[in-house]
Amino acid sequence: MSYQVNEKGYYGDFGGAFIPEMLYPNVEELRSRYLDIMQEESFQKEFRQLLKDYVGRPTPLYYAKRFSEKYNTKVYLKREDLCHTGAHKVNNTIGQILMAKRLGKNRIIAETGAGQHGVATATVCALMGIECVVYMGEIDIKRQAPNVARMKMLGATVVPAISGSRTLKDATNEAIRDWINNPVNTHYIIGSVVGPHPYPDMVARFQSVISEEVKKQLQEKEGRENPDFVVACVGGGSNAAGIYYHYLDQEEVGIIAVEAAGEGVLTGKSAATSALGREGIIHGSKTLLMQTDDGQITEPYSISAGLDYPGVGPMHANLFRTGRGEFISITDTEAMAAGLELCKLEGIIPAIETAHALAIFETRKFREDDVVVVNLSGRGDKDLNTYIEHFNL
Ligand SMILES: *Cc1c(COP(=O)(O)O)cnc(C)c1O
Repeated sequence: MSYQVNEKGYYGDFGGAFIPEMLYPNVEELRSRYLDIMQEESFQKEFRQLLKDYVGRPTPLYYAKRFSEKYNTKVYLKREDLCHTGAHKVNNTIGQILMAKRLGKNRIIAETGAGQHGVATATVCALMGIECVVYMGEIDIKRQAPNVARMKMLGATVVPAISGSRTLKDATNEAIRDWINNPVNTHYIIGSVVGPHPYPDMVARFQSVISEEVKKQLQEKEGRENPDFVVACVGGGSNAAGIYYHYLDQEEVGIIAVEAAGEGVLTGKSAATSALGREGIIHGSKTLLMQTDDGQITEPYSISAGLDYPGVGPMHANLFRTGRGEFISITDTEAMAAGLELCKLEGIIPAIETAHALAIFETRKFREDDVVVVNLSGRGDKDLNTYIEHFNL
């Protein structure tokens, strides 16, 4: 059995492409061509070159000595925080902008909640000189002013979504509407391993550069390619998919997924999808999803904007359902403490999303000789105000 996607676009029971008929030609064009394009030598050459010279890859695999001593196990941090723009998201947007060019598209659309994916998309559009329109909920535009400014500086047009709750899901609806109206010249860059097939698989493949590098780097440092565990926080699940990718079917490597419990899994203010979710369809794929008894999507909550998503990608739903992945949820308070601790122990200020992954060591014990690789998905500069408020700094 494989935990990779099958030819039909499913991970076990999850995935597929549940889309309005009007969107079919766009998605089908991508589905029928993405693998061939990604395998072209010229594509790989350009992708690898940009990852190296523009993004700054390979990112280091850093042995966190003081953190390891504290938790009495061997912890390595995969430093995605050192990528250009401060997180892993750019690995995917670089891949998708090259894909768009080969599909003959000259206009990019995207949706964004916290603004991080919008910034990563605006960045690569500037790099390529391609028009960029980012849909963002009106409320999120107010909450995330610095990222809105970044997108504008990078030349993107930010369009407010003014319907519904005026947050991420409304921005997604606007982006889909745009794509239906502009099927020929426009590519829709989705920012995580979510959406209709082939998006989850395509995004996972672009992010898989993370585990590809870990294998080489661990071989150098530990004399073996496989760690005992890989750990990542899961919003939609793209940084997690990246660090799991080459280990998915290597059952001796434990997979740990960390979700945001918000104020507590049972408080009604949480984003712990695996604990609370049931099967449903969101953004064109069948997955686990937080919903009411009559199937309305529940508004998620987390102190970290990047984990504030009511679903998980289909790969992760399947890792949960099959038991291949171990799922842990971490509260706001636990995450904030872990973020501050990494600052003091290692001199690294992590994103609050990432801090959730670091917080598991308080309760999840590992053996002394276990090698545990944590994906340090992003840096905490964007979160300074939240850190300041939380700790009265
Ligand atoms: C966006 C983001 C996440 C969550 O997204 P995934 O697709 O689950 O990776 C996690 N960490 C950081 C730093 C982010 O910016």
